[in-house]
Amino acid sequence: MLKQTIKNFVSRLFATPPSGPVRLSRDKHGIDRRLVSRHAIKVCEVLNQHGFDAYIVGGAVRDLLVGLRPKDFDVATNATPEQVKGLFRRAFIIGRRFRIVHVVYGRGREHEVIEVSTFRAYLDNAAAGQVKGNEKTSKAQLSGMQHAVDASGRVLRDNVWGPQDEDATRRDFTVNAMYYDPETQVVVDYHKGIQDAKKKTLRMIGDPATRYREDPVRIIRAVRFAAKLSQLGFSIEAKTAAPLVQSQTLLADVPQSRMFDEMLKLLQTGHAIATIEQLRKLGMAKGIYPLLDVAVERADSPFVKAALVDTDRRVNEGKPVAPSFLLACVLWEDVRKGWEDRMGRREHALPALQDSIDEVFERRIGDVSGRGKLAADMREIWVMQPRFEKRVGNTPFGMVMQPRFRAGFDFMRLRADIGEVEEALAEWWQDFQT
Ligand code: ATP
Ligand code: MG
Repeated sequence: MLKQTIKNFVSRLFATPPSGPVRLSRDKHGIDRRLVSRHAIKVCEVLNQHGFDAYIVGGAVRDLLVGLRPKDFDVATNATPEQVKGLFRRAFIIGRRFRIVHVVYGRGREHEVIEVSTFRAYLDNAAAGQVKGNEKTSKAQLSGMQHAVDASGRVLRDNVWGPQDEDATRRDFTVNAMYYDPETQVVVDYHKGIQDAKKKTLRMIGDPATRYREDPVRIIRAVRFAAKLSQLGFSIEAKTAAPLVQSQTLLADVPQSRMFDEMLKLLQTGHAIATIEQLRKLGMAKGIYPLLDVAVERADSPFVKAALVDTDRRVNEGKPVAPSFLLACVLWEDVRKGWEDRMGRREHALPALQDSIDEVFERRIGDVSGRGKLAADMREIWVMQPRFEKRVGNTPFGMVMQPRFRAGFDFMRLRADIGEVEEALAEWWQDFQT
């Protein structure tokens, strides 16, 4: 514990530039304000009007700076979550370990969520800060609170507010730690993020191994940003990359649902192929998450490759992608093999397929458990496959009426692309549905 504290202190010492932040004006950083979400600007305006500081922060500033279109906008402020909530009509405090506010604008498909987070304090101030804030804290709670970091260095609680420079130091990569003030159009940079963006370097703030220990999800984030930014020629700084492989075991402590979500972010944010390349390059082809291991292992098989390329294309065209579709593609090899084996033992086609699917789910139950809808959708996509062979009577009409028809068809279309079913079949259904 003491060793950890000293290490945190030392890494902080080196992480904080003594000279204060760099402030860059519009003509120096070149960010076009018209590309900034008007809702994010609105959130900052409202906060400013009530006397709070507010900046656009994180990925949006990074993306604007390197010429990408941000996928969403985060705001950082010195207002507490409760204060933020009080200022907006549709605002919701979410999260426990890391409380933030979702400010919602618009409805339906057009709606936009601005994530507003309160400036965080340094880790080792955390325990003290929490205790000070609540004098009635019991002894038991007190001892719990002082362990804001567990034995392995993992951060357990992170709701202690602090000044902006401490917030910057708590962020992960230097290019993710810049603040943009939409009113003055000034970018505030404590950790040479602008310089790293120019040098096309992904660099962890502070001591990388310590930062991975604090929050092992940063290991996956390193891969994700390396993949995303590789299209622009970015690479991970050697010191940031060095502890990645050995830190991988820390992921065992991350809740499975979080791991599942992070896996989807790797595969479904438009950079699946680049992610797989990075995972292999960094020596992390195995061990992040079981389903991801399978995806990486099969990434060169024609079918999975086609699915990954197709997913990237869809995301980049702004079309929706479903996890069930991609995962159905990744596990299809197992389903198909079990299906063929059973048919070889003279089972009827449909029950053979159902049994094979059951077996695959059984084997991978941990990966999709608690996700009933996901598994149900995957099953539907698979079960539709033999039905596409029946092009007579009422069957085709019934098929097209199914809510998951489109996904089933797209799946069959991919199978046709790699020659697993006849092209004529895919074309027939293409014509039939239109
Ligand atoms: P994306 O383009 O995927 O949204 P992002 O950088 O905005 O990328 P978010 O997950 O939206 O990523 O997080 C917003 C910001 O919060 C990050 O840029 C970073 O500054 C900070 N952040 C998020 N997760 C972590 C983490 N695990 N550790 C430290 N800082 C984090
Ligand atoms: Mg973001």
